Amino acid sequence: MIIGIDVDGVLLDIQSPWIAKYNHISGDCLQYNDITQWRMADIVIPEYALSIYDMRTPDLYYIALPICSSQYATIKLISMGHQLVCVSHDRRSHANAKGHAIRRHFPWIADITITGADKSIVKCDVLIDDAVHNKPDILFDQPWNRSDTDIPRAESWISVVNMIGSMR
Ligand SMILES: [Mg+2]
Repeated sequence: MIIGIDVDGVLLDIQSPWIAKYNHISGDCLQYNDITQWRMADIVIPEYALSIYDMRTPDLYYIALPICSSQYATIKLISMGHQLVCVSHDRRSHANAKGHAIRRHFPWIADITITGADKSIVKCDVLIDDAVHNKPDILFDQPWNRSDTDIPRAESWISVVNMIGSMR
């Protein structure tokens, strides 16, 4: 199968360095598990509701680490015969840094596609994403998507491998 994999919050933990930067600038003490909504603007101190998005600068991709077990699991999926493609929606300004981070941490994933808002233009059999609005086939569990119960949810990358292994 062709498996599309989102990057932010699925392959790479961009939230941790982003939150750290926000806390440093604002003096807030936001934690990862406090992000219980998709819109960061609704979570941060109101004064930073607009600037929080500008704090996710490309340089953060040089310190962002892989999500737990994502490296093992993506190698495993390839060994199972699947083709992996990174599918990420982002600004043009972030494409180089994000691509560099993927090549550095996931050199076995050859295909990287930066899309506009509509990820459905990338044809894949299975999409793994942490954003409900991207209508993934597998919703990768994160604190910000736990209110959605309709999409099959993977609690971890090990769950992803098991779920794909059971698909026909
Ligand atoms: Mg994402």
